[in-house]
Amino acid sequence: MNKPVVLVVEDDKSVRKLMSATLQAHDYRFIEAASGQEALLNATSHHPDIAMLDLGLPDMDGVEVIRAIRSWSNMPIVVISARSEDTDKIGALDAGADDYLVKPFSVDELLARLRAIQRRLVMLKSGAASSPVFVNGGLRVDYTARRAYIQEREIHLTPIEYKLLCLLCQNAGKVLTYPYLTEKIWGASWRHEVANLRVFMATLRRKLESEPGSPQYIQTHIGVGYRMITQGT
Ligand code: CA
Repeated sequence: MNKPVVLVVEDDKSVRKLMSATLQAHDYRFIEAASGQEALLNATSHHPDIAMLDLGLPDMDGVEVIRAIRSWSNMPIVVISARSEDTDKIGALDAGADDYLVKPFSVDELLARLRAIQRRLVMLKSGAASSPVFVNGGLRVDYTARRAYIQEREIHLTPIEYKLLCLLCQNAGKVLTYPYLTEKIWGASWRHEVANLRVFMATLRRKLESEPGSPQYIQTHIGVGYRMITQGT
């Protein structure tokens, strides 16, 4: 598989150069942009496979860039932010970003995010997201029969646990926020009922994970949400 083209959007020149040098050293192709307008121009003219986007840009808020890209493209977007506040990450994820990196980040973290995004791309391109059966490592969900299996053994889920599992599977590799999940499960009036979500997620994980201490399927993003980990093949 060809290494994907990564659009690097960052106004801080030293960070941008470091990212580009890292990408180049690992055989990724890349396009640089130093502003929101330049990012949108490059995104429409070069059709990159992945965007890595700084949230604090000189001309536009990064969230606006995400919304603009999402109006015509579902390319994976990894948000890069110096802001450590969870609300910024949640805002960016709810606007359509897939994942986030918090500055300062290591080269290893950057590469790990890209590998995870590539697994998500493979999954999206294979049509797995719209298939009637979802398979991820030892997990299999049969949407038609409404049944889930771990290593071919059926796991018995409550309706809410099953709904949560489906949301995670249908968005495998993407971080889903607390507001997104609570709204999908209970509707808009439940947007802030994170405690309930945690309870159902805990029971789902007990049924799914053989070692809850080192989860294989559902990753927790403290203060932000949850993600279905895409298994390497
Ligand atoms: Ca910046």
